[in-house]
Amino acid sequence: MSWEDNVRKVVPYTPGEQPKFDKMVKLNTNECPYPPAPGVQKMLKEMPYQDLRLYPQADARILTDTLAEYYKVSPEQVFVGVGSDDVIAMAFLTFFHSGKKILFPDVTYSFYPVWADVYGIPYETQPLDENFRMVAADYKKENGGIIFPNPNAPTGVEEPLSLVEEIIQANPDSVVMVDEAYVDFGGESALPLVDKYENLLVIRTYSKSRALAGLRVGFAIGNPKLIKYLNDVKFSVNSYTMNMPSLLLGREAVLDDAYFKDTLAKVIKTREWMKTELKRLGFSFPDSKSNFVFATHKDKSAEEIFLYLRSKQIFVRYFKLPRIDNYLRISVGTDEEAKILIDALEELLG
Ligand code: PMP
Repeated sequence: MSWEDNVRKVVPYTPGEQPKFDKMVKLNTNECPYPPAPGVQKMLKEMPYQDLRLYPQADARILTDTLAEYYKVSPEQVFVGVGSDDVIAMAFLTFFHSGKKILFPDVTYSFYPVWADVYGIPYETQPLDENFRMVAADYKKENGGIIFPNPNAPTGVEEPLSLVEEIIQANPDSVVMVDEAYVDFGGESALPLVDKYENLLVIRTYSKSRALAGLRVGFAIGNPKLIKYLNDVKFSVNSYTMNMPSLLLGREAVLDDAYFKDTLAKVIKTREWMKTELKRLGFSFPDSKSNFVFATHKDKSAEEIFLYLRSKQIFVRYFKLPRIDNYLRISVGTDEEAKILIDALEELLG
């Protein structure tokens, strides 16, 4: 017997690489290629550093009030966390407590099975169809909860709100979490349904569309009862998840809506150009409503292309996983970065 026999052993999630080269094109973690709103920089300079002496607001009201106003819900409907990873982890701990299997797609955010394992939550993956679409019928069996991203990751595929609603409606005894990390890039949000369904939790992040992956802010919107349960668990783990700079900077990011919309329009424009060029070079992909394209090539293997791009310091994401090991997930960069990528691919494939 050793102390190691008593350790909780887990296989952790592997985050995307954060390589550091002067001249690189980083299209591997779906970050925003543009800076956060100018108000964030201004606040960063003006922030009263002596206030760091004090604990931050435990209820994070500065941020939940701002988000509530922006999304036209009440502050009691908003929960914030350290990136949406923290929000989702708390939500698993809070809502997936029945002992029954939770359901999510077989091809999806690869953190879901990791949280299930660490909390001892049983799960059953549901196969996407051959076009990477969800099949509503798969989510109409007994379960302990449901989670899926919409648009999905790493496929970029968006399911219509009618399918999302069908799943929520069919599961009044479970909490259904819709992970909308990428919805701002052209997807239809389930937010209008939160007042209609008590069991719906919509999860969002600042890491993609708001260009603040480094700040670590995510949030969830749902029925006040759901949010109360989430807060009870959060306050049983760590009262002060949100540090004071995150609260102040997070508020600034939401206040400048014109800058936000402008950033989204730029990313979407570049994404559409990338789609045309990738098609021309022999790639195919499910249509993407996110800030990445999930592409496979007719001749060259994804792994070979991945390694070739890497040798040129162009980083994309490659998952050696069942069904998707011949695909590359390529984040949308600036026009300049997209051009460098396409030129490099042209050299290899052209
Ligand atoms: N959900 C999905 C579908 C994602 O792709 C990501 C990004 N890795 C996250 C949640 C978590 O993002 P963050 O913790 O940066 O908010």
